[in-house]
Amino acid sequence: MFPTRQAARRLALQSSRRWSHSVAPSPRLNPVTEKDLAYFSSILQPSSILSTLSPSKLPASELDPYNTDWIGRYKGTSTTVLRPRTTQEVSEIVKYCNEKRIGVVPQGGNTGLVGGSVPTGSGEVVVNLGNMSNVRHFDAVSGILVADAGCVLQSLTDYIAPQNHIMPVDLGAKGSCQIGGNVATNAGGLRLMRYGSLHGTVLGLEVVLPDGTILDLLSTLRKDNTGYDLKQLFIGAEGTLGIITGVSILTPPAPQASNNVILALPSFECVLPLFKTAKRQLSEIMSAFEYIDRTAYDLAVKHGQGRALNDEDVEGAACFVLIETSGGKREHDEEKLNELLETLMTADKPIINTGVMSQTPAQFASMWALREGVTEAVSKEGKAYKYDISVPLSSFKDVVDVTRERLREKGLLGPKAVKHVIGYGHVGDGNLHLNVVADAYTPEIEAALEPFVYELVAKYKGSISAEHGVGVMKTHALHYSKSNTAIEMMKRIKQVFDPNGIMNPGKVLP
Ligand SMILES: Cc1cc2nc3c(=O)[nH]c(=O)nc-3n(C[C@H](O)[C@H](O)[C@H](O)COP(=O)(O)OP(=O)(O)OC[C@H]3O[C@@H](n4cnc5c(N)ncnc54)[C@H](O)[C@@H]3O)c2cc1C
Repeated sequence: MFPTRQAARRLALQSSRRWSHSVAPSPRLNPVTEKDLAYFSSILQPSSILSTLSPSKLPASELDPYNTDWIGRYKGTSTTVLRPRTTQEVSEIVKYCNEKRIGVVPQGGNTGLVGGSVPTGSGEVVVNLGNMSNVRHFDAVSGILVADAGCVLQSLTDYIAPQNHIMPVDLGAKGSCQIGGNVATNAGGLRLMRYGSLHGTVLGLEVVLPDGTILDLLSTLRKDNTGYDLKQLFIGAEGTLGIITGVSILTPPAPQASNNVILALPSFECVLPLFKTAKRQLSEIMSAFEYIDRTAYDLAVKHGQGRALNDEDVEGAACFVLIETSGGKREHDEEKLNELLETLMTADKPIINTGVMSQTPAQFASMWALREGVTEAVSKEGKAYKYDISVPLSSFKDVVDVTRERLREKGLLGPKAVKHVIGYGHVGDGNLHLNVVADAYTPEIEAALEPFVYELVAKYKGSISAEHGVGVMKTHALHYSKSNTAIEMMKRIKQVFDPNGIMNPGKVLP
């Protein structure tokens, strides 16, 4: 379990000034009844059912963790959560729900940041995959891992580590998120720059379709050119086309040596020259290039994420960059990294103030925690409006500054409204996390930010969702990144798989 997630969620639930979205119930779908619950009891073990209906009659608070999203912005009112143990059980649940027109919300670790994993208020049943957590097979020669969709990412990492392999995806929520959730969101994370997206590393999937059919696409082949590659449709579909129950994924060999360094920069203008220089000098061993602006760094430190750098290393820093290298030989990699630092320190026009290189595994982890912990720190600081966007690298700072200025003009900047506007993210992938941290979620702040931010992104020809997905948060903004024709094709695909619209209603499509 992600250590402080429950605490963050508690804080969210306690907020008396909660302002959460809810979507009008779909007239076509029916809420779960006691009769439906009796059916679920006939196919599942008692411990797999949580319900506020008779005869279970649990207090609603027991279902809060399943009804409330990680950032505490969306809260559904589902009465029933099912935690099946097998693909067959998932199939029987979904088949029944399709016949009875009951909405189904697939749920993994519930760490999604766009409200996709919680019900939107139409009485759906939540199908949580947490009880499906077995590794089915691992081949240490090919590195191909086949696992239940409910396996937590960290546990898979731990499972293959003794065989000298790593997962191709890594993110701050690894202690809670599940591989099925990662695939359903096409999660990017910290290793995308090196290992590419899940569209490349996922080799096969097992999926329960909305009519209960089990679609076995669980290939372990790296090459298979036999017509349409159906699995790709479920990668990033956010549970709107079916429930992923099994995943086959190619895991890379563990690097023999990993290093990281945090560089303090005098201004944002230095980030691009630094990226260029680092790419040239480190070439094949550079595995991450992450950006943290000064406010994001200060928040991470304030909320105890990683160990703060020394005062003299931070003084005068406008922003920070974390570079990770992963290679085959420690001496070779260290030599390259030291050469890079020397180039940077002795340049005529210095592009860094200082650099701190990790010396021990504990320091390595602590430096990563400063970057990975920003999301957690933000959730402790207040209510976050999160914009996970792709824009040209050169515009990262402009986007943050222009958004801050907009809020200032609207009189919304201050301790009782918006406390911080910050930027951090995966520079190597052109992905900026623009976070507006407020005292509470309010319609005034949202009106100031939207569609303003989306129009800004469109101006830069960027994407309104680089890696977190669309969920319920961005359905209305999809047209900023997709043409009408593309959205129409998406709707037709949805219609083919899910004609009754039971699968994750209200998500992804406008
Ligand atoms: C601290 C923190 C850091 C994060 N860092 C990153 C990051 O760097 N990069 C990134 O991309 N994301 C990041 N995220 C977002 C989130 O962790 C990812 O989206 C993750 O992949 C979600 O996995 P999950 O199991 O928690 O899925 P959930 O949150 O439970 O679900 C997410 C979506 O997938 C669907 N879904 C879940 N499981 C299944 C399934 N088995 N079959 C079909 N649909 C399913 C849900 O219906 C929902 O629409 C971060 C989140 C946190 C809290």
